[in-house]
Amino acid sequence: MNTLLLSDNEYDVKQAGEILKNGGLVGIPTETVYGLAANALDGEAVARIFSAKGRPMDNPLIVHIADIDDIERFSLVSDFPQKAKLLAEKFWSGPLTMIIPKGSAVPPEVSAGLDTVAIRFPEHKTAQAIIKAAGVPLAAPSANISGSPSPTTAEHVMNDLNGRINAVVDGGECRVGLESTVITMVPDTPRILRPGGITPEQIESVIGKIDIDDAVLNRLEKNEKAASPGMKYKHYSPKARVILVRGEGYIDFVNSKSDKNVAALCYNDDVNNLSVRAIPLGDMTDTESQAHVLFDKLRQIDRENFDIVYARCPKADGVGMAIYNRLIRAAGFEVIDLEKL
Ligand code: AMP
Ligand code: MG
Repeated sequence: MNTLLLSDNEYDVKQAGEILKNGGLVGIPTETVYGLAANALDGEAVARIFSAKGRPMDNPLIVHIADIDDIERFSLVSDFPQKAKLLAEKFWSGPLTMIIPKGSAVPPEVSAGLDTVAIRFPEHKTAQAIIKAAGVPLAAPSANISGSPSPTTAEHVMNDLNGRINAVVDGGECRVGLESTVITMVPDTPRILRPGGITPEQIESVIGKIDIDDAVLNRLEKNEKAASPGMKYKHYSPKARVILVRGEGYIDFVNSKSDKNVAALCYNDDVNNLSVRAIPLGDMTDTESQAHVLFDKLRQIDRENFDIVYARCPKADGVGMAIYNRLIRAAGFEVIDLEKL
């Protein structure tokens, strides 16, 4: 299949809408990462997303809307809890996904057979325009080969999916750079299943106490059931082996490995002290900038063909929780604790 590289002008957005109406797959820019979109109401079109990405069929997709009224218009939910309405008012459009009891129109391919559906109203103007041009809600996971770092530019999408999808719309670099915060609104106390750009503190300031699922920061035990199926896989990882390094003495530890083909995923202040290739994520305290570049830096590790990457363990609070969550999965939960050596 020839993959069209479209721009974000009106003519090309209309063309993307036509492809989607006809059951095709289009890579679309959003403020979080690039999504791989299909008509969310067409089970066959949605099934193509799973084969293009090599995504396990038990990992459900997020449905993207361009107007809060789309939820009712397309019968996407069977109930819209009051707390969900409050969060929608405050954070939509934006990088927040809510899990809600599923409506009759959502095919089982989207929800992976669950009785809930994940919904998000993206803030990116081109994403909104594409949804409107398609005239239907769009199911869209990240537009990468399953398991690899999520794409934050149209070029990343092309690198992974060229020849496997109908088109990509180039809308520039994604503003946030990490996937949306996912929260389930089904229990009385809503629970974060995946951290993202909207922090637990921001959510609690609107609806009071929420929980954070164990799988956000910890590895699931072998037989434990994942509330969010996506959290159980090794994910976001380059081909190189990523190891998270925690505790005092990061620089000395990494420098002791300088005879090998290693890189250090670190912060700006570390660069001059390292004797291996340093790939800084930015200023140590500037978590928003770190989030913005994280996936491109993970891809850079493969562009430069390193065998091992020692990533300096971030603090898991605020947006840092989302960065930690992605890095620990990129590392397949392999952590070196310097204080325990
Ligand atoms: P992605 O679209 O690749 O960013 O992945 C979507 C994330 O949302 C994955 O971690 C899914 O497991 C999660 N998700 C989507 N729908 C549901 C649902 N109905 N219940 C729980 N998690 C969901
Ligand atoms: Mg993904």
